[in-house]
Amino acid sequence: RLIAAQKISSNEDMQERALRPKLLDEYVGQMKARGQLEIFIEAAKKRGEALDHVLLFGPPGLGKTTLAHIISRELGVNLRQTSGPVLERAGDLAALLTNLEPHDVLFIDEIHRLSPVVEEILYPALEDFQLDIMIGEGPAARSVKLDLPPFTLIGATTRAGMLTNPLRDRFGIVARLEFYTPEELTRIVTRSASLMQVEMDEAGAFEVARRSRGTPRIANRLLRRVRDFAEVKHDGKVTREVADAALQMLDVDHAGLDVMDRKVLRAILDKFAGGPVGLDNVAAAIGESSDTIEEVIEPYLIQQGFLQRTPRGRMATLSAYLHFGLEAPKTE
Ligand code: ADP
Repeated sequence: RLIAAQKISSNEDMQERALRPKLLDEYVGQMKARGQLEIFIEAAKKRGEALDHVLLFGPPGLGKTTLAHIISRELGVNLRQTSGPVLERAGDLAALLTNLEPHDVLFIDEIHRLSPVVEEILYPALEDFQLDIMIGEGPAARSVKLDLPPFTLIGATTRAGMLTNPLRDRFGIVARLEFYTPEELTRIVTRSASLMQVEMDEAGAFEVARRSRGTPRIANRLLRRVRDFAEVKHDGKVTREVADAALQMLDVDHAGLDVMDRKVLRAILDKFAGGPVGLDNVAAAIGESSDTIEEVIEPYLIQQGFLQRTPRGRMATLSAYLHFGLEAPKTE
């Protein structure tokens, strides 16, 4: 459900892939993660070893998959991609692992959703490059040990807190991806516009960028819609005014909040007197899953200072009241 809500149509997926930067130098922002990775990649290459296992975490659309592909390209190795929910049985993972070439990257998206049986066989694979699996059934069943080539696991997750401790401990490199600044997103939008051959001025790019929830995937998606609008309603050129009109039509408000963002905030303000209120109550009030609110919607609202997480639940901030032109309650 979460995936369905997140994933756009496959056609747009393809367009999105075309916009993916291929090298670390083209990867905008995330200076901290990039700086670390540059060093570790170079060191691993110099020693002729596989890169240590990498955990990337952060909200959807910030560039985890893109970074995994870049890492493998910079290392000059193959990348095999799968995801936590897809690996149902131990054999699924065993098949992938035994097909790796030395130093290859195995990328597991949504790694917090691995089943416990799969996680069990992943541990020795990560630690000693050994596979311990049962072959056959009943009395004929026996366990076999296989040596694996040294490889790098790159795990991506929207929720590092959902990982079991033993799994988290096996990652030598842990990088947290942050929301992008409007300036960084302007560079991404400008680059995408030129790849898509959209005529756009700097102010137009900035307008799309600052209203994209700090997220490159959203910036690229909004850019496509703004381009449609510019082509049909104007002469195709994206200026600030054209971008603003298109974003208004798309229900993205001046602060860059979308319909779901506003639904969450309004529910807390109108139905729960501004909070504190439990996440499940907010979810029930707007008919959305608590997972989606927690992983997709609220991180940006918190980062922007509209929402606060307190021990007693979620609370709307003064900025949230002001955003909707409401009078804030008196503080005692
Ligand atoms: P995630 O795996 O975190 O959900 P993706 O790696 O799929 O996110 O990124 C979504 C899209 O955003 C990519 O297709 C890419 O075009 C763009 N993107 C992400 N990070 C960057 C970046 N640092 N610089 C430029 N474009 C980026």
